[in-house]
Amino acid sequence: MPKTVLVTGATGFIAKHIVAGLLNRGHSVVGSARSLDRDAEIRAAVGSELTDPAALDRYRTVALDLSSDDGWAEAMEGVEAVLHTASPFPLAQPKDPQDVIKPAVDGALRAISAARAAGVRRVILTSSSGAITVKNGPTNGSAFTEEDWTDVGHPAATPYFQSKTFAEQAAWDDAKANGDIDLTVINPSFVVGPPLDANFGTSIRVVERLLIGKDPMLPRFGFPAVDVRDVAEGHIRALERDETIGERIMLADRFLWFSDMAEAVDEALPNRKIVKRIAPDFVIRFLALFDKEIRVVVPILGRREDVDASKAKQILDMTFRDAAIGAADAARWLDSKGVA
Ligand code: NDP
Repeated sequence: MPKTVLVTGATGFIAKHIVAGLLNRGHSVVGSARSLDRDAEIRAAVGSELTDPAALDRYRTVALDLSSDDGWAEAMEGVEAVLHTASPFPLAQPKDPQDVIKPAVDGALRAISAARAAGVRRVILTSSSGAITVKNGPTNGSAFTEEDWTDVGHPAATPYFQSKTFAEQAAWDDAKANGDIDLTVINPSFVVGPPLDANFGTSIRVVERLLIGKDPMLPRFGFPAVDVRDVAEGHIRALERDETIGERIMLADRFLWFSDMAEAVDEALPNRKIVKRIAPDFVIRFLALFDKEIRVVVPILGRREDVDASKAKQILDMTFRDAAIGAADAARWLDSKGVA
C-alpha cells in the first residue's frame, strides 16, 4: 500500500536517493529542508532519477530544523510514516562535541514526538554503523553485528559517532518507554556511490579528496562501506516490511581500506592521477597537527572493522553491490560533472 512519508533532511546525499526511490515505488513524500529555498534543488536532483516525471506531483517540501519545534505539526499533515535521516555529519569534528550531539539527539526525539503527536506509529531512523563498531572488538569475536553498541568513551568515538550512538539510544529508549512507536533503525556503514547533485555530503568529500590528490600519500585507515543505492533500497524495504519493527539493521558490503578505494578509482579513471602510496602512520600523526580533517583518522589508523550484515540479507533480502565499485562510481560522477 503506498504511504505518505515524511523524509527529514531531504537535501542530503542519502535522502535524495531515498525520496526518488519512494516516489518510484508509488509513495508520496513530504521532504524537509532547513529552508524552503532548497525545494528546486531537491526537485531537480530527485527528478533526474524518476521513472515517471509526473511522480514529482506526489512530492512537497516543508521547512524544519532539528533544533526547533517550528513547523513539525504542520509537516505531519497527512503523513503515515516518518523516515528520519537528518543529522549533522561534518568532515572535521567540532571543538565542542555538543555541536553535533545535541542536534542529533534533539532531532531524533523531535521526529518521534512529532509522529506521536500526529498519531503516526511508524518511524524509520537513520543511525550509522558508527553506533555499532567503535569498541574494542565484536561481541561474537569475529565480526560486528547489531548486537554491538559503540563505546562512546573509546578513543575512536568522534563527536559524530557519539552523536549517532546517543541519538539512536535515545530513540530506542523513547519508543520502548512509551510503547506507541513502531521503530526500525537502519545503520548504514560508510556510504559511497554516485550523488544526485553537487550537494553531496561528507562521505563523497572523502572520495573527492582522493580524486583531487589532496594527500601526497594515503593514511592507513578504512571503514565498512556500502553503496548509496543499497542504502536507499534498505530504508524503503524496511518501511515496507513490518517484520523490521523493533530491529536495528546494519547495511554494509564489506570493510574497505582507503587504499582499496584508491585502487578502484584508479582503475575506473585511468586518465586521472590517483595517489596510491600508503603513508607511514607517524607521517599522518604529524600532518594531523595542521589538518583537522586528517586528525579524524588518527585514532583509526590500522584499525580493521569486519562487519556481518546477514540480518539485512535475511530480513530485507538485500544483496549488496561491491562498495569499491560504488566508490569508483562516485569518482566517475565527480569527474564527469567537472566537480573534481
Ligand atoms: P548529508 O550531510 O548529505 O545530509 C545530512 C542532512 O541532515 C542534510 O539534509 C542536512 O541539512 C540535515 N541536517 C543536518 N543538521 C540539521 C539541522 N540542525 N536541522 C535540520 N537538518 C539538518 O549526509 P548524508 O546524506 O551522508 O547523511 C544522512 C544520514 O545518514 C545522517 O543521519 C548520517 O549520520 C547518516 N549516515 C551517513 C553515512 C555516510 O557515510 N554518508 C553513514 C552512516 C550514516 P542541510 O543540507 O541543510 O545541511
